[in-house]
Amino acid sequence: MGYTKEQIIHEVKENKIEFLILEFTDMLGDTKNVELPVEELEMVLENEAMFDSSSISGFSDIQESDMYLYPDLDTFLLLPSLVDEDRSARFICDIYKPDGTPFEGDPRFILKRAMQEAEDMGYTVNVGPEPEFFLFKLDSAGYPIREMNDRGGYFDASPKDKGDKVRRDIVRTLKKYGFEMEASHHEVAMGQHEINFRFDSMVKTADNIQTFKNVVKDIATNHDYHATFMPKPISGENGSGMHCHLSLFQNGDSAFYDEDASDGISKTMKQFIAGILHHASGIAAITNPNVNSYKRLVPGYEAPVSVAWSHSNRSCMVRVPTTRGKGTRFEVRNPDPTANPYLTLAVLIQAGLDGIKKEMDAGEAESRNLYEVEDDSVPTLPTNLKEALGALGKDDLLLSALGEHTSGAYIEEKRKEWTEYSLQVSKWEIEKYMNK
Ligand code: GLN
Ligand code: MG
Ligand code: MG
Ligand code: MG
Repeated sequence: MGYTKEQIIHEVKENKIEFLILEFTDMLGDTKNVELPVEELEMVLENEAMFDSSSISGFSDIQESDMYLYPDLDTFLLLPSLVDEDRSARFICDIYKPDGTPFEGDPRFILKRAMQEAEDMGYTVNVGPEPEFFLFKLDSAGYPIREMNDRGGYFDASPKDKGDKVRRDIVRTLKKYGFEMEASHHEVAMGQHEINFRFDSMVKTADNIQTFKNVVKDIATNHDYHATFMPKPISGENGSGMHCHLSLFQNGDSAFYDEDASDGISKTMKQFIAGILHHASGIAAITNPNVNSYKRLVPGYEAPVSVAWSHSNRSCMVRVPTTRGKGTRFEVRNPDPTANPYLTLAVLIQAGLDGIKKEMDAGEAESRNLYEVEDDSVPTLPTNLKEALGALGKDDLLLSALGEHTSGAYIEEKRKEWTEYSLQVSKWEIEKYMNK
């Protein structure tokens, strides 16, 4: 879109905007925002909006807590659902230190650094995400209960699908937000849904994922449902993933397509995939960021368990859809929608570029159903958060992709989460062992 300051001032006046919402994302992937009255527009556009970063997870210490929000003018948006009542506009912001340099713990900065790295090598990257979510019913006080919104399954139609109206409302709202919407449908599990929007550049896609998740939650609430992106809310049912489709371009042409290769896949693409497979265990700590994430990555539920690539096999971490030409791409299947999208894309890209630089070998495509392969000939993704964090701590490439600030803070925070979890005694354990 590319707004200038003058255009923004004009739009704000023209639309009688009252409130300015400044958004950013913390280390754990949560959207944070502060709201300013429109009289502060000039101050905001001069990059002078300040906040206390010591209260934001993964940001800074008390000693150096003042940070500045620099609005990204391209993200300026008149909030459509609110235009008539509240008249607000939002900006997604980059975070800067008082000395005028970018804050190295800002996830958006970490992704921009990865994007720059790709550009320095002559590449631009596009990403298309497929976020899945569940709708749960609410109790009379408005809290979610453990009952899904319907009993539907994959591609089911109304009346089995009771999410159609909610999904339509989400699509309608996102279109007003400027999203190019694609398919939406009921997913495999009861109460599970998926809505797709068009691929875009990396930072734009990460911004879009954040906006998407917030809109889904808001609209679900309007329909008296609770939307959750939790990866495995129901044991014994499919979980929710956020597959990411990646494509790479050089001078406007696909760097992933090779018309002379028998499978149409370029050497660059195989090396990129090899880089991701090579760093898979550490990547998981970011793409599968919580204890529950690993309950999704088990055999039998269309989520990957194997660190391998294939053409159509959904048990592998990486799958190459059949499209060739400009649409040549691969899908990384392990990320789930609770992952911080900025950090997720940063580690995936940096791992892929590492594969190209070191000319890594992805081996042959896997054609077996790896859910059924009993031997350990194929490496598997970490089976829990602790394992993944251990791998991340040993992966120098990923540590530097995240930067010292964030890698340190992330591993510390997530280790605490693991410890907290390991102190719990579950209902399953009581039932299993009480009679011992
Ligand atoms: N829900 C599955 C997962 O966890 C994906 C299923 C699908 O997209 N068909 O990744
Ligand atoms: Mg899909
Ligand atoms: Mg799906
Ligand atoms: Mg998919």
